[in-house]
Amino acid sequence: MPRRMTAAIIDGKALAAKVRAGLGAAVAELRAKHGRPPGIAVVRVGEDPASKVYVTSKEKTAQELGFASWQHHLPETTTQADVLALVRRLNADDAVDGILVQLPLPKHLDANVVLESIDPAKDVDGFHAVNAGHLFQGRPSLVACTPAGVLRMLDEIGCRLEGARCVVIGRSNIVGRPMAMLLLNRSATVVICHSRSDVEAEVRRADVVVAAVGVAKLVKGSWLKPGAVVIDVGINRDEAGKLCGDVDFEAAKEVASWITPVPGGVGPMTIAMLMSNTVAAATRRLQLSSTRTS
Ligand code: NAD
Repeated sequence: MPRRMTAAIIDGKALAAKVRAGLGAAVAELRAKHGRPPGIAVVRVGEDPASKVYVTSKEKTAQELGFASWQHHLPETTTQADVLALVRRLNADDAVDGILVQLPLPKHLDANVVLESIDPAKDVDGFHAVNAGHLFQGRPSLVACTPAGVLRMLDEIGCRLEGARCVVIGRSNIVGRPMAMLLLNRSATVVICHSRSDVEAEVRRADVVVAAVGVAKLVKGSWLKPGAVVIDVGINRDEAGKLCGDVDFEAAKEVASWITPVPGGVGPMTIAMLMSNTVAAATRRLQLSSTRTS
């Protein structure tokens, strides 16, 4: 009997470091040509503890890459008008190439209105309807960071997407939907599952599974087609309080060909892609402004 191989692990930490290292030359070129590095402004409202950790980590990475960065922390009681006024100021500030409003916002604020107030050219999270619309139409755009990171991982392992049957579990605006569009734009056959789908039946036929649900170990190893590529976006806690994904990793790695761990998989890629989006936004904005002045 042939020996069953366990899946190869996709190391998100190592790949994120490679993506960050790859940005160095572009940052140096921007400095040399335009006299300044890319700039990112991060807005946080209120005291959500996870948001504080994410924002600190984003700012630290930006600084390590030599970006200019600004953190705006507004109190929990900030009005919608005040948040919008800050975004307007950042939109008008030429040194700011990327604006990120950390979600979730306090309940009294309308996240959609706030996100739509960001200049699409500075929308490094890729959540603005203009950027989401461009992605939907298969046109170049600033793409949501987590799905962009997943695609980068699939490319890194040489996963052939053309004609592949890809199942995306989850249909949120920040992960599931943009993920499905990215795969469709690569000519994959895409199925989007959600809380009312027969997830098991779809996963059984999938060459590539991207799970973005938020339910610990929802996807069982026995559901997977042998050799499937499994990307786990979920961040959950198991019964013992340990971090885990949406996929039952231990069982799945015995069936899959490639699999991402949690933690150390998709998570580190998200911030790396945010940095990559900021460099892309800066490059586009500075090129545009130099064509206007030449
Ligand atoms: P969300 O709650 O906005 O969306 C979850 C989606 O899963 C929904 O579309 C829902 O229909 C679907 N769903 C819920 N229960 C289901 C079920 N039983 N079967 C099938 N589908 C079901 O969540 P989100 O913001 O898209 O995040 C999803 C997960 O990814 C969370 O665990 C989140 O923490 C994680 N996440 C990780 C990163 C990262 O950088 N690694 C980034 C964003 C989100």
